[in-house]
Amino acid sequence: MTSTNTTDKTSYGYPCEHGDGTVRPKKIDREAFKHKKGFIILEGITVGVCDNCGARYYSAEILHAVHDVATGAKPFDRLEQIPVSHLSG
Ligand SMILES: [Zn+2]
Repeated sequence: MTSTNTTDKTSYGYPCEHGDGTVRPKKIDREAFKHKKGFIILEGITVGVCDNCGARYYSAEILHAVHDVATGAKPFDRLEQIPVSHLSG
């Protein structure tokens, strides 16, 4: 039983910085974020996606969550293994 205080108050709809597009909110199941402490996966988040070029934008709330989970300030729900490979040659 979790009672998280998620006020899904994301304000998208601003112009894309790459061109003429508009950043629209898009609900996605999961997204992987790269942090200097490692990779973080957030689930059930709303990100901004440009309707012209497809660039992704993340709200400060999301970036704070990534930082907090990566640094251990925010407890995470579970750990998943991420496949790692390197190419030789
Ligand atoms: Zn764009």
